[in-house]
Amino acid sequence: MEAAFGSEKELDIPLTANCKRCDGSGAEPGAMETCPSCNGSGTVQRRQGLFAISTPCSNCGGAGQVIKEVCTECRGAGTHRVNSKINIKIPAGIESGMTLRVTGKGNAGINGGPSGDLYVEINVIEHDFFRREGRDIYVELPVSFVDAIMGKNIQISTLDGSENIEIKSGTQPGDRIVLKGKGLPDVQGYGVGNMNIDIKVMLPTKLTKEQKDLLQKFDGATTDDNYSQHKSIWDKMKGFFA
Ligand SMILES: [Zn+2]
Ligand SMILES: [Zn+2]
Repeated sequence: MEAAFGSEKELDIPLTANCKRCDGSGAEPGAMETCPSCNGSGTVQRRQGLFAISTPCSNCGGAGQVIKEVCTECRGAGTHRVNSKINIKIPAGIESGMTLRVTGKGNAGINGGPSGDLYVEINVIEHDFFRREGRDIYVELPVSFVDAIMGKNIQISTLDGSENIEIKSGTQPGDRIVLKGKGLPDVQGYGVGNMNIDIKVMLPTKLTKEQKDLLQKFDGATTDDNYSQHKSIWDKMKGFFA
């Protein structure tokens, strides 16, 4: 239902955040000094024959500055682990396997740099009653054989409430009723799917003597004309099995 209508969720995400005391530098406030190896340039030059090759300074990692005194809060790591509460908006129509990107809500950057992004992979839990295929939903509706034959108006649950539907007299097993626009919305906003109601005609498995007699009587009173919809198929099958 959350996938159908969209929702908001609060997630508890374990991630790294910049140390507030040192702002991610790993040094005690004011305790950075110019790297003695590269004199603050961040690179060292090496002569190799005719060429001068410039490589990042290994002493300061290219930063040009080194820590004189390690931050007492994070012990020089610059980051610490936190549980971050993040609110995310789940758009209506989302499907399993889709990924939501939350900009700037990932782990802390290096040396106090900007945080990365958080990617949330969606897994939609199946509904007890509705089966989903893309934007369309499917439901199996059990109908007694008498109701299928005689017809009946019934009320059926939909995603957003309920709907009155007509089981037409002469409904056959596997017949489908389509409720247009009663499925899920497209996640990009391109239209809405349908709700498909597949009729499952229930046949009794236990009968009393009286019921058997009634059916016998009924059978005696029926002719091929009662099955006009399927007469042509029946005729073919009779020929096939003869
Ligand atoms: Zn720190
Ligand atoms: Zn250096």
